Amino acid sequence: MVRAIVGANWGDEGKGKITDMLAKGSDIIIRFQGGSNAGHTIINDYGKFALHLLPSGVFYDHTTSVIGNGVALNIPYLVEEIQSLVERGVPKPHVLVSDRAQLLMPYHILFDTYEEARLAGKSFGSTKSGIAPFYSDKYAKIGIQVSELFDDAVIKEKVHRVCETKNILLEHLYHKPLLDEAELLETCRQYRDMVEPYVCDVSSYLHDALKEGKTILLEGQLGSLKDPDHGIYPMVTSSSTLAAYGAIGAGIPPYEIKDIITVVKAYSSAVGAGAFVSEIFGDEADELRRRGGDGGEFGATTGRPRRMGWFDAVASRYGCRIQGATEVAFTVVDVLGYLDEIPVCVGYEIDGKVSKDFPTTVKLEKAKPVLTTLPGWKCDIRKIRKYEDLPKNCRNYIEFIEKEIGVPITMVSNGPGRDDIIMR
Ligand code: GDP
Repeated sequence: MVRAIVGANWGDEGKGKITDMLAKGSDIIIRFQGGSNAGHTIINDYGKFALHLLPSGVFYDHTTSVIGNGVALNIPYLVEEIQSLVERGVPKPHVLVSDRAQLLMPYHILFDTYEEARLAGKSFGSTKSGIAPFYSDKYAKIGIQVSELFDDAVIKEKVHRVCETKNILLEHLYHKPLLDEAELLETCRQYRDMVEPYVCDVSSYLHDALKEGKTILLEGQLGSLKDPDHGIYPMVTSSSTLAAYGAIGAGIPPYEIKDIITVVKAYSSAVGAGAFVSEIFGDEADELRRRGGDGGEFGATTGRPRRMGWFDAVASRYGCRIQGATEVAFTVVDVLGYLDEIPVCVGYEIDGKVSKDFPTTVKLEKAKPVLTTLPGWKCDIRKIRKYEDLPKNCRNYIEFIEKEIGVPITMVSNGPGRDDIIMR
């Protein structure tokens, strides 16, 4: 049985926490897209962790953590992340890396940085982790697959081809130092030795695991609105953030994904540029940012302050639909406990017309929020464990949003810790 845990919004919905929690009853947890460009913050018995590449299920002894073929694999980063967990007392995780995953190389990071500088004010808000250059190379068929590291002739030829094209850009577009073929080949040899203990034919492994009835979690990174096809293109990431892509990025049949837990945040936050209809500014935003998440809404990878906004029912309903949400985990509800009244965006006004449909980006840029206001509950709800024990206004807020998004909210997260959860 496969369940996906994915985001309905712009990312940072709290998927890590939900994954860490559900991993307890699971056997295998898989990352199927993205790379180390976004982080998941997890707070559990071992402490507080910001994971970037490993799935959020690595904290249990009984789980296997898989880096699927769809991931942008930064090998030294992976090895360091495993090492840092062990140093902090977490049992050495059982990690498998797909032999079909491709390598995020140091030059991807360089190209990302150079391109951001070249675009200057017109950039896409990259985290400069090399993700866009990585996926560009993958689809341009000059990416390096893990399996290729183990064949000297193949890797030599690949490195030669990469240097040939990259050096033209480095010389004539960016005016930067060129790549050295011998050095790059040596890097590949080092990467081969580092990754070797983890390499696995992952889709075959998962095929057997499914036959044996194992419980598998797919952990998504970012959210629906950052999907390159269905999100706010071009202010998106470079790999699909949708549960459907889990089948491809892990190598399992799509019909095995039975449950799509879509994580929805009780207010909005986003990093990077792009239309953000329910965005708030000034003191109102500062206060929500300061109180948000666990210790403030700042990027787990970059430390950048996140942009803040009220809950956006238009974007979230669309985000759930495009994920194919079967249930919703509604997170960070506790954070809103300070507000007398809580504004919610229930429509977009575009060229004088109000709509509840999430438009394409060109129209989205023109959208103005249509807000409604719900009464706040004005208390701390963190320790509450039963839905009926929540204040009435808090239940009203949850039930109002459930109606707006049209998917059952089965979990309410009321704190960053593993146990801060209300099952409905
Ligand atoms: P992810 O990328 O979707 O895993 O989200 P992040 O981990 O980047 O961001 C979520 C942040 O919110 C983290 O700092 C979590 O510790 C925190 N968090 C998650 N769920 C809750 C919650 O219900 N309440 C509060 N206060 N914080 C939460």
